Amino acid sequence: MCLTCRIVEGNKMPPGGVFFKDNEVVIHHCIDVNIPGYLILSPIRHVTAYQDLTQAEIVNIAMILKEVVAILQQIPDVEKVYILHLAEETLHFHFHIFPRYYWMLDSLNAELFQMENWMVLNCLVIIGEKIR
Ligand SMILES: [Zn+2]
Repeated sequence: MCLTCRIVEGNKMPPGGVFFKDNEVVIHHCIDVNIPGYLILSPIRHVTAYQDLTQAEIVNIAMILKEVVAILQQIPDVEKVYILHLAEETLHFHFHIFPRYYWMLDSLNAELFQMENWMVLNCLVIIGEKIR
C-alpha cells in the first residue's frame, strides 16, 4: 500500500494530522518539507496519473485547490502559492501546494556559495561545463 493510501486509511499520521478529507480528497502537511503550510492534496482513490481522475474528482480538486490557495495567501509573508505535481515519494497522484514566503527570497543565501559547500559548487561547475 502506498504512503498516501496509508494516510487515507489512518495507518500513517502526517505532521499535524489530516487537515481535510471528504469522499474524494485528502489534504495533509508535507511529510518531509519543513515549510509551514506546504500541503499535499491527493485524491482518496489510488490513481497514478492526472488523466486517470474522474471528471467529478477533477472538479472537486480544482474547487478545493482554489480555496486552499486563497487561504494560504492570507498568511502574512506568503508572496505566492505554487501548485506542483512531482510524484517522487509516492506514485499516488497528488499536488504539492507550496507557499513561497518573502523570507525565502530575502537574501542571496550567500552561504550556499561559500567554498565549504563543495557539492553545490561542483554542481554549478558541471552545469557550466555542460552548457558550453
Ligand atoms: Zn495510493
